[in-house]
Amino acid sequence: MSNSSVRKPHAVLTPYPAQGHINPLFRLAKLLHLRGFHITFVNTEYNHKRLLNSRGPKALDGLPDFHFETIPDGLSPTYADADVTQDIESLCRSVRENCLQPFRELLVKLNDSFTAGLIPAVTCLVSDAGMNFTIQAAEEHALPIVLFPSASACSLMFNMHIRALFQKGLLPLKDESYLTNGYLETEVDWIPGVKNFRLKDLPDFIRTTNPNNFMLEFFLEVADNLHRGSAIVLNTSDELEGDVLNALYSMFPSLYPIGPFPSFLNQSPQNQLASLGSNLWKEDTKCIEWLKAKEPKSVVYVNFGSITVMSPEHLLEFAWGLANSKRPFLWIIRPDLVTGGSVILSSEFVSETSDRGLIANWCPQEQVLNHPSIGGFLTHCGWNSIIESICAGVPMLCWPFFSDQPTNCRYICNECGIGIKIDTNVKREEVEKQVNELMVGEKGKKMRQKVMELKKRADEDTRPGGRSYMNLDKLIDEVLLKQH
Ligand code: UDP
Repeated sequence: MSNSSVRKPHAVLTPYPAQGHINPLFRLAKLLHLRGFHITFVNTEYNHKRLLNSRGPKALDGLPDFHFETIPDGLSPTYADADVTQDIESLCRSVRENCLQPFRELLVKLNDSFTAGLIPAVTCLVSDAGMNFTIQAAEEHALPIVLFPSASACSLMFNMHIRALFQKGLLPLKDESYLTNGYLETEVDWIPGVKNFRLKDLPDFIRTTNPNNFMLEFFLEVADNLHRGSAIVLNTSDELEGDVLNALYSMFPSLYPIGPFPSFLNQSPQNQLASLGSNLWKEDTKCIEWLKAKEPKSVVYVNFGSITVMSPEHLLEFAWGLANSKRPFLWIIRPDLVTGGSVILSSEFVSETSDRGLIANWCPQEQVLNHPSIGGFLTHCGWNSIIESICAGVPMLCWPFFSDQPTNCRYICNECGIGIKIDTNVKREEVEKQVNELMVGEKGKKMRQKVMELKKRADEDTRPGGRSYMNLDKLIDEVLLKQH
């Protein structure tokens, strides 16, 4: 290893082991690499195997100053050959109980490699906020640690107020009937920086009848531990979530919004790692070929992310809504998207849509969203999907499923005016109507203008002199290079 390489700062990044957490942290790793860091990216063994399967066994070899390590996730080997997101609650439990020791051993191994002159000394840790155990490891090694809650600033703010919601007696719900009796319409207007939210827009694990449920405890622990980090990084920007960020700055003095990451990386398209992706499913690239033949902004892109599932009935409503809209569509249907069985679409649907619809298992989403033929995105409102859609200037139809998705949906529909919500109990008539509104209606036109403005501001924010750009500079100087 050359002298200059050995002297580089060395960041160890640890994502929570699910696709929607790996992708943004991977982008952050690339950003730090562009700023001269040596990177160690730590996946779980299960996910690393999937990454190798999806990208080819050699794809991750020989990258300059960027290498991968693995730790076990502690879950049973029944997952060993699967190609699905592991059960989130089991993962949270397992990570909490099993990952600290392997992570400690990894840091020792990295230190040995440094002593042998093979890599630079580890100088900082950057971890998903859900990977709490890394905080203890950072404290043991006296290393700075940056925590990354992969969600929006808005969701973070709600998570910081879980106890207050319970203390005010708004939660827990008295019983299951409170989920449907109108109680969830109650306004939550006293949390700093967020307005026009109702109980139903809060992350679903908060809207519970059981105050002792594990996921609630997990998120409380994550929120409490944020104060133990040297800094917090968010994949958002002052332009996108200014009000709530202003409120968060007074709670966290070392908060650095440095998003949106996709815009940031688009500023350096020729970088050495540009083509290196982190998708765990094999991307079906025929989508891009297919899009080439379509008119500009004519195609509806439909994708519900890596975890969302739906009933066979809901799938049919979406299918016939898309068919009846008569618009071209690209629909990504993961093999495990439908609960309780495989996806079956009738031959009638297939013959009705074969000239203008393409269905695939998984796609390179960022590339798809940036394709000139895409005119709208029907999404489950994962924060990454929203960020990627904004960075591509694509307006959205929203069908939130769980976790922080209802919060994201409310924010982009009501605060930003770049999305239209589809009812949870989706019906084909509504899909048909809203798809047409999105693609050719007046509201769709206004949403497109607004999202293009946000895209422009995201580009400005992440260029030299922009707020996010300067925040990244500060994060590096004030935190990550502090001990270098
Ligand atoms: N993704 C992709 N291709 C697909 C589906 C998803 O590349 O066919 C990526 C997407 O670009 C995003 C991530 O997977 O970066 C999903 O994260 P998100 O927060 O949107 O949703 P989650 O999967 O966590 O619910």
